[in-house]
Parts: sequence; structure tokens; C-alpha cells
Amino acid sequence: MRKKIVAGNWKMNKTLAEAQALTAEVLGMVADEVTNDAVIILCTPFPFLLTVKNQLGTNRIAVGAQNCSEHDSGAYTGEVSAAMLKSMNIPYVILGHSERRQYFGEDGQLLAKKVDAALRHGLTPIFCCGEPLDVREKNQHIELVKKQVEEALFHLDAAAIQKIVIAYEPVWAIGTGKTATTAQAQEMHAVIRQQLAAKYGHTVAQEISILYGGSVKPDNAKELFACADVDGGLVGGASLKSRDFVEIIKGVG
Ligand code: PEP
Repeated sequence: MRKKIVAGNWKMNKTLAEAQALTAEVLGMVADEVTNDAVIILCTPFPFLLTVKNQLGTNRIAVGAQNCSEHDSGAYTGEVSAAMLKSMNIPYVILGHSERRQYFGEDGQLLAKKVDAALRHGLTPIFCCGEPLDVREKNQHIELVKKQVEEALFHLDAAAIQKIVIAYEPVWAIGTGKTATTAQAQEMHAVIRQQLAAKYGHTVAQEISILYGGSVKPDNAKELFACADVDGGLVGGASLKSRDFVEIIKGVG
């Protein structure tokens, strides 16, 4: 079901003690200050997932992983499977983040398998797509993002696609302080929704949450989240600071 979602991607940051401190701060501020019903997710490094999950208890805030293997088990040293995440009751997993694509060579074919693995074990994938700067400068961003969506997701049937959350994250905006304008974000989100509608029908497309990611900050969250096809955000750097993250969550309305 289409929901407003704000997910923090901690990437490879924080020690255990720092992760616990950040979680405690976010918990307190969300309880005291957040009045909207946005789904809030903390995507922590693997080693902290269970600790943060236990710390959150039955609170409305959920945890998510930042990646998972396409395999369920086996001789894949250093990998973490969707089955393992499910066994810890981790509900969300980010897949296809541009840093995974860029530094770990993840492509559409592999991501389709990771999406399948996540769904097979009942996890909700937060599937990332987005173009690098040179692609946007050549005005090929729409074509590329549509290709990323098609390659990794379009083997799914209508029931499965509705279990996916999509995050549009222009690579040139990630960690750079350079945010897409509301017009740029809305344009791409509408393109993705139209693409989903063309494949799965209007009703299904309307049920899918599409988040924006790329230097979302307290001072731009509200206007980005107000765009018709932007259903919240995937937040990197600003999710490492409790005050900034909570202000962004409040930007949902
Ligand atoms: C991200 O890592 O998904 C991200 C959007 O990072 P940042 O908010 O720091 O640009």
C-alpha cells in the first residue's frame, strides 16, 4: 500500500555505542514531536540490526538492512542472506543503492535476483535507481532510470511489484549537498509511476511508494515531500544526526 516513508541509510557509519545513542535520541524525539503517520525506518549496518531492533521494541520505528545476497545460504563468505534477515524479523532491505552499483558492480540482472531473494523471504525491498551526473548532462536520465526499473523489477507480477518501495536517487545528489529541485524530483517520480502504470495498470502504480533520495535535509524535505509523486525520502548523511533526521520526518506533514 502506498505510504509516506522516511528511511535513514546509515551506510558504514557509527560504532555500536554510537548506534545505540543515535537510536535512543531518534526514539525520544519521534515520540515527543512527530505527529504524522509516516513509516520510519533505520537502515543500520548489519552488526547493529538486532541491537537497534531490540532497542526500538514495539515502537513504530522499523529497522532495515542495506543489502542482502541473492543466495539463500551457502559458501559465500562475508555475505548476508534475506533468510538470515527474516530470521531476525528485519522487515526492510535497501537494494541497488548507487554505492553498491558503483563500488561492488551490482547490475540489473543481479538486482533482479536480490529482489527475488528478498521477496521470497517476505522482506520489503527499498529498490534504488538513479542516474549519474554525466547521464543527466546528456539528457539521458529518464531512459537510464526506466531501464534500471525494468531490468530489476519488471519480471515481477502485479502482486509482487506492490511489495516494492522504489527510491529515486540521482547519483549527483547523493552526499554532495546538491539536491534535485522539486521539479526534477517530481518529473522523474511521475515518469516511474507512468512506467509502472503502463506495465501493471494505473491502480497498481498508485499503490507503490516512490521515495526521493539525495541530500534531503531539514530545509528541503517539506517541499520535496509535497510533490504529488514523492512519497517520502531515503536519507543518508542527515540520518546520522537525530535532530536533522527527525526534522526531515516532520517534513512529511
Ligand atoms: C543515500 O545514501 O541514500 C543518500 C541519499 O545519501 P545523502 O542523503 O547523504 O545524499
